[in-house]
Amino acid sequence: MEPGSDAVNMKESSSVDAVAEGHAGSRRLRVAEIFHSLQGEADAVGWRTAFIRLTGCPLRCVWCDTEYAFHGGQWHSIDDILAQVASFEVRHVCVTGGEPLAQKRCLILLRELCDQGYEVSLETSGALDVSAVDARVRKVMDLKAPGSGECARNLWSNLGHLTARDQVKIVVADRVDYEWAGKVVAEQRLAERCAVLLSPVAGVLQPLTLAEWILADKLPVRFQLQLHKLLWNDAPGH
Ligand code: SF4
Repeated sequence: MEPGSDAVNMKESSSVDAVAEGHAGSRRLRVAEIFHSLQGEADAVGWRTAFIRLTGCPLRCVWCDTEYAFHGGQWHSIDDILAQVASFEVRHVCVTGGEPLAQKRCLILLRELCDQGYEVSLETSGALDVSAVDARVRKVMDLKAPGSGECARNLWSNLGHLTARDQVKIVVADRVDYEWAGKVVAEQRLAERCAVLLSPVAGVLQPLTLAEWILADKLPVRFQLQLHKLLWNDAPGH
């Protein structure tokens, strides 16, 4: 993590909210991209999905693959976002980032997507409070392993807000991360709460190595590779 990056990026996230608040009643969110693709991970994998990627994140995971969403983007009203989503004619919508919960109005967007009848998932870092997320949303919540550089940011109280429809995702860079994940799964009885997904850091840990570790230890987790990386090499817009 870059020195001082927490303070800087929390300030940026606050300023995103502050600017949105400045447009009273405009119900706007800063959006990095809205696109139509196949869901690449978690339990909706393979479904055509509308993705809404919100700008900003207070974390700096060393292996982050969406750094382009830290800054920039465009303001969109929630009504405009809903209209773009409707144009894709999908059942599934994924709100992602960045860290989408860094913008408070994300909670309104999630609720209105659910009201419109979509199957809604939220990809979140696990560092921000998820307690106010609409209960109809499927949370796909990270727990950051030591190799991310952001392990200290895990907000453990979030585990109490997970239900069987949610998923915890742990991205594993090496054996240290893997053993940390195994310990957390056992100590927190995570697999009894919800599905636990383990993924290798692309280009850092061989998928086969992680698969063999899971088999050898009979871990109660679900191995996953990211479909969008296999199909599109993780290019923006997919
Ligand atoms: S939380 Fe997600 S978007 Fe933020 S730095 Fe980590 S991987 Fe990147």
